[in-house]
Amino acid sequence: MGVLEKAPAKINLSLDVLGKRDDGYHEVEMIMTTIDLYDRIELESLANDTIHVSLASRYVPSDERNLAYKAAQVLKDHCNINNGVHIRMDKNIPVSAGLGGGSSDAAAVLRGLNRLWKLELPLEELAHIGSAIGSDVPFCVYNNTALVKGRGEKVFPLPKPPPCWVILAKPDIGVSTSKIFQLLNTEDVVHLRTEEIVNALIAKDFQKLCTYSANVLEKVTLERYPEVLELKKKMTGAGALGVLMSGSGPTIYGLVQQEKKGISIYNGLRGFCDEVYLVRMLG
Ligand code: ATP
Repeated sequence: MGVLEKAPAKINLSLDVLGKRDDGYHEVEMIMTTIDLYDRIELESLANDTIHVSLASRYVPSDERNLAYKAAQVLKDHCNINNGVHIRMDKNIPVSAGLGGGSSDAAAVLRGLNRLWKLELPLEELAHIGSAIGSDVPFCVYNNTALVKGRGEKVFPLPKPPPCWVILAKPDIGVSTSKIFQLLNTEDVVHLRTEEIVNALIAKDFQKLCTYSANVLEKVTLERYPEVLELKKKMTGAGALGVLMSGSGPTIYGLVQQEKKGISIYNGLRGFCDEVYLVRMLG
């Protein structure tokens, strides 16, 4: 019997960079949540002791470079497992988009193998194991709304955002997260009022959430990729609120409370951009 796991995309309600650490990583402070756009991961035991990944994607490798593969390998090593696994992935989350697709796949593999191999590890331990795979993996293990600190390994749960619809638009470019972080001058960063976003979530105050949500990486990505800036202007002009770049981009998202409004913005943006989605906020 196989195991199925959903791997939802994440969006950043905020992203602040507090500084650069001696180990080369950036100290971040961000609020992330999940949306109803997900990859499907199916795990099946293999008789021989191998990890096999199958997926249909032009952009994602199926070998040991795949973060889902890495997750299986790391968990196997951590728990001394001698079983093999076949990981079937149905990818729907755009790649290199700032939506954490690879990290979410890795986290889903950790959760799924925990069940398939009856390991009964607590989520905290899976998150700790996941931090060796990628900075966003610990957050993705929990799949809720959270304040994330350190280099991504400190995850503090928060109330989910008020119910709303999310319109996402991804220009036809891929953005390298490490490149954008390299280009960021940490001295120049105007820091966010993250505590106000936390307060907005606690109060379920949609307007306040939209007012304070911000991302310090926007300055870098928007200057470098004018098409992302253009999309942000289009989404704002169409009437979406809290319009923001997720992660290091290039995906721009906007929020609306009414589905009808979401559909009209979605339809309008499809004229400018091939990859547009209208999904519910999950949190
Ligand atoms: P983040 O916001 O966490 O940086 P992202 O959405 O910008 O993530 P991903 O889609 O997770 O970026 O992947 C970026 C890179 O990781 C791509 O070069 C891709 O080939 C590689 N990769 C490895 N495994 C996966 C996977 N399972 N899904 C997507 N990309 C993967």
